[in-house]
Amino acid sequence: MYTCILNYQSNKTFHLKRGLLTLPQANIKLLNMFPIDNIRADFPILHQKIHGKPLVYLDNAATTQSPIKVIDAMVNYYKTSHSNVHRGVHSLSQRATDAYESARQKIQTFFGASNSKEIIFTSGTTHGINIVANGFTSLLKKGDEVLVSQMEHHSNIVPLQMLCKRTGAILKVIPMNESGELNYESYLTLLSPATKLVFINHVSNVLGTINPIKKIIDKAHEVSNAAVLIDGAQSCPHIKTNVMTLDCDFYVASAHKLYGPTGIGFLYGKEAWLNKLNPSQFGGSMIDRVTFEETSYADLPYKFEAGTQNIAGAVGFAAALDYLQDIGYDKIAPYENELLVYAQEKLLNIDGLKIYGTSKFKASVISFNIGDIHPYDLGSILDKMGIAVRTGHHCAQPIIDFYQIPGTVRASFALYNTKEEIDTLIEGLLKATKMLS
Ligand code: PMP
Repeated sequence: MYTCILNYQSNKTFHLKRGLLTLPQANIKLLNMFPIDNIRADFPILHQKIHGKPLVYLDNAATTQSPIKVIDAMVNYYKTSHSNVHRGVHSLSQRATDAYESARQKIQTFFGASNSKEIIFTSGTTHGINIVANGFTSLLKKGDEVLVSQMEHHSNIVPLQMLCKRTGAILKVIPMNESGELNYESYLTLLSPATKLVFINHVSNVLGTINPIKKIIDKAHEVSNAAVLIDGAQSCPHIKTNVMTLDCDFYVASAHKLYGPTGIGFLYGKEAWLNKLNPSQFGGSMIDRVTFEETSYADLPYKFEAGTQNIAGAVGFAAALDYLQDIGYDKIAPYENELLVYAQEKLLNIDGLKIYGTSKFKASVISFNIGDIHPYDLGSILDKMGIAVRTGHHCAQPIIDFYQIPGTVRASFALYNTKEEIDTLIEGLLKATKMLS
């Protein structure tokens, strides 16, 4: 079995054979240099006991924890600069506006957008997807086609389903195979000049599969000039993304998957597309001129930012990006891949354990079941041992239906996890299995 690391800048792929590294020497050195002790010290929440046992936090695909720098940045904002943005002539309002707008610029440069007008603050990935799906209501007509993959999060499926109901467009599904990989040939068959939108996640939150999004985007543009939205919720903590190089039309992510706070994320859209979309939330801040008869909208990005935004969240988001940048994805990706390879190998030694999602292109997310033990039972017992994993359908019921299972246990690793924690998970699973069988 192979897993791999993508060299995210160049798109070259290096393979790792179970435990046997075939990486360039420089990357092997990086694995040894990963400053895990310093990193763990940055995360206060990790140093506590749950049910009397040291916390082992393996629910990072749901939410990552925040380093002290992120927490301090938000506290400091509230202590020194808090006010409302864009509306005041007074100094605090100016400070808050500067902090908010410089967070937007940080996101722009971090994700490689050409212009900060193309970065819309949202409450998270789901909100960004809804802005795009609602905005397409006036752009689609009956018989147009919209593609989504079988391995999407509900937040990609449901807004598109509603869009199709409103417009008469047809929702088509790109199937996946038993290994949890998209069937690219089927995608090519489904694409046609009628395709207007493609919504796809970069990394599946259940299977960990890294989808070949560059190929998918290029093909959609070539065949029908369809707009492609990339859901980066699960890829952004592991894979450095440049939206211009990708040439995606829209990209969405949440700060809380990136070691930042909840309640804040962003939507990137190419300026030309964002100008075509109507907003779906109305009120203060998003207007140019209001009379009782008519309202005109503000320019980008404000057209999509109705009402008071999560300013402290934006500050925390920017601090999280600084934190990631300081460590570097070139160190994070090989380290997390090492955890993935180690965990998969150990898990597969457990009798009756089955992993769902065995693509060779995987991020550090592992879904599994043991025999016919219900995932909730395993998760509840693990919690009593201080081990946090997620159980259930992970907001992706079509994947669960595909495998005809009640759900899975999901362990997902972040840059602060260790092999010792994986050993604790394995011990916990062995004990739980004994108790339950
Ligand atoms: N897409 C994917 C792939 C996700 O994993 C998630 C969160 N689990 C979402 C979308 C939704 O993110 P949020 O709840 O932050 O809006």
